[in-house]
Amino acid sequence: MNPSSSTIQERLASIRTELPQDVTLVAVSKTKPIECIEEALATNQFDFGENRVQELQEKEAALPKTIRWHQIGHLQTNKVKAIVPFVHLIHAVDSDHLLKEINRRAKNFGRTVDILLQVHIAQEDVKYGWKAPDLERYLDEDTLASFDHVRVRGLMGMATFTPDQQQIAQEFNQLRRLYDSLLPANPSWDTLSMGMSGDWRIAVDEGSTMIRVGSSIFGGR
Ligand SMILES: *Cc1c(COP(=O)(O)O)cnc(C)c1O
Repeated sequence: MNPSSSTIQERLASIRTELPQDVTLVAVSKTKPIECIEEALATNQFDFGENRVQELQEKEAALPKTIRWHQIGHLQTNKVKAIVPFVHLIHAVDSDHLLKEINRRAKNFGRTVDILLQVHIAQEDVKYGWKAPDLERYLDEDTLASFDHVRVRGLMGMATFTPDQQQIAQEFNQLRRLYDSLLPANPSWDTLSMGMSGDWRIAVDEGSTMIRVGSSIFGGR
């Protein structure tokens, strides 16, 4: 569907018809005004993703509390405190340091925060995340068990920005296999967040349970 001639609601409907029932659609509303979110909300879209903490805070304050807010981008430790009171899921947790801070702030606030561990699967080295062997080692150390106010729900990753569909599929497949291999030791996991506007169909084919789609819903940024 051509984004410029259709509405947000039409684009959402079109994605939903293609998306398997058990895959969660996170509508990535970063840089978009409140009115766009309200338009999506009117179709019972409740999951929204943002990547800048200040913008997330402003939108959370202005919009209905029924919204489930996802922090999808890289998160600095000094911003954790601001989102801990309300965030639904933090997608891009990529260090022990950040985990410690989320646990500390969540404990102070008296809630348990759901997070995903970000895995580096892309060939570009600009993207954040654990290298798979480092994550496996980290999980083996069982440090997570000491974080009683953080609940890990699974993994998140971003594929290389490339037109090569096969490479993208390979990277998502690699992440899916890592997820499957870690699942027996982590029975509480239920979320594999992978897929964006350009590659969510490939991600779903490779076993994604949660896609993060921005421009295909709200238009370019
Ligand atoms: C912006 C962003 C998205 C959505 O990107 P689109 O290509 O607009 O769908 C998904 N995930 C992350 C981490 C992002 O920063």
